[in-house]
Amino acid sequence: SIPLSFFGGIGGAARNGILVKGSTYLETMSKLGTIAFDKTGTLTRGVFKVTELLPADGVSQDELLRYAAAAEAQSNHPIAKSVMTAFGGGTPERAEVREIAGMGVEARTKEGVVRAGNVKLMKSIGIEGLREYAKSAVYVALDGKFLGTLLVADELKPGVRAAMDDLRAAGVSRLVMLTGDNLAIAKETAAEAGMDAVSAELLPQDKTAELERLMAGEEKKTAFVGDGINDAPVLTRADIGIAMGGIGSDAAIEAADVVIMTDEIDKIAAAIRIAVKTRWIVW
Ligand code: ADP
Ligand code: MG
Repeated sequence: SIPLSFFGGIGGAARNGILVKGSTYLETMSKLGTIAFDKTGTLTRGVFKVTELLPADGVSQDELLRYAAAAEAQSNHPIAKSVMTAFGGGTPERAEVREIAGMGVEARTKEGVVRAGNVKLMKSIGIEGLREYAKSAVYVALDGKFLGTLLVADELKPGVRAAMDDLRAAGVSRLVMLTGDNLAIAKETAAEAGMDAVSAELLPQDKTAELERLMAGEEKKTAFVGDGINDAPVLTRADIGIAMGGIGSDAAIEAADVVIMTDEIDKIAAAIRIAVKTRWIVW
């Protein structure tokens, strides 16, 4: 039988905007040693802005943006939304689109196959030697020919640094960032957030492998915090999967054990404190 106070703990969490899907998860929350975070949408606002259009020779800024929009029009990725905002109100060309996890999108248009995404996506079609930036970048190609780069910027959610300090005070000893984004931007964001370690340029399956490596070196429990469709496997693999309920995808919310309804990172430390207090009452 489940001690009544565990229900109190779950109720207490719920009243704080934290959905805990079962009492065992609350108990595990009181024993966390490591927390790994996805970057985009979890530590950062997940609202990008296009800051620069850098067309290749012979391509205009308008053309670059138009092709990028044709590829991104149907994507839900936060980067795609920033491209559509920069494109403005016009209707991009209709296209048959495929998302390539951790890399970008590929669209079959009347004018050819447009690809928009990161360096990995470009390498996969034989485009090498691209300039890399200390910002997130969307590289665009038409039928394998490089058209140019859009630089996009995101920012840390307010209060992330304080939330990390609070997690340490609540007994978590290792804070790690796992991201599909490039290493330069990942390092900068991790330093700003006050993380202990960062692992970048990860495909979704790499995030699971990296989490398993962290779990192997941890005597206490390990949580993963994420929001994307791509994060579902790693949310399931962690001792505790924590999803952002507001911005998070349905797949992430479904896969998670704990859902932060308000997307506030500081609610994780609050949940740990509720979990620890609940155990005190039981014992
Ligand atoms: P993260 O949330 O850690 O950034 P994702 O798996 O969502 O990880 O994305 C990894 C990387 O793949 C992004 O940083 C971006 O470079 C690229 N990417 C994914 N989807 C898109 C898209 N629709 N448009 C452009 N780039 C994309
Ligand atoms: Mg993400």
